[in-house]
Amino acid sequence: MNARLDHRSPLVFDTRELGRRPGALKRLSRTVEAPRDLGNEVIGAPEGAPVELDLRLESVMDGVLVTGTARATVKGECVRCLEPLERELEADFQELFAYPDADAHVHDKDAGEDVEDEEDTLYIEDDMFDLEPVLRDTVVLALPMQPVCQDDCPGLCSECGVRLADEPDHHHDAVDIRWAALQGLAETIKDGEKDNMGGAEAGVDEKQEK
Ligand SMILES: [Zn+2]
Ligand SMILES: [Zn+2]
Repeated sequence: MNARLDHRSPLVFDTRELGRRPGALKRLSRTVEAPRDLGNEVIGAPEGAPVELDLRLESVMDGVLVTGTARATVKGECVRCLEPLERELEADFQELFAYPDADAHVHDKDAGEDVEDEEDTLYIEDDMFDLEPVLRDTVVLALPMQPVCQDDCPGLCSECGVRLADEPDHHHDAVDIRWAALQGLAETIKDGEKDNMGGAEAGVDEKQEK
């Protein structure tokens, strides 16, 4: 059983004005703050960010059919180059909120399809319904699983981690790396020799000064 609906929650809607006469219609718009975790791991609406909702409530035999559109700015990062990105998300949804006393009827209808549907049935409680689970499913389904900053984002250099979109000519030459390694080694040896010599000279100078 769900906890009682909180009528102060911006995602809880009252259906009393609509009435229970099948065919009755009500349209409403509301901007709500995004609840926590409205998205997937890589992209989503930041908590508290505005989510615009346009809803059409229709009284049907078994409950209230809610058809709507959600709009929000979602933020995340490119999965290839980790650059922050922003998208305007617009997603449609439709959900039936069943009257508690329409139980038997709704279940009969679902029985032939999928037993699990029974558990997914959303209900009207105290003439109200909670849109949050619907909004959550809608947004998550509409979000890209692998958002990219641009379709052909080349990602990061596997050698040094530089963002390749910023440096189209960036490359490492395999031969250069080997040469660089050899040169580095040669310089280390030379430096070592110099250091020894320098040390010896410094030592001599010191002795001479004393
Ligand atoms: Zn990218
Ligand atoms: Zn690189």
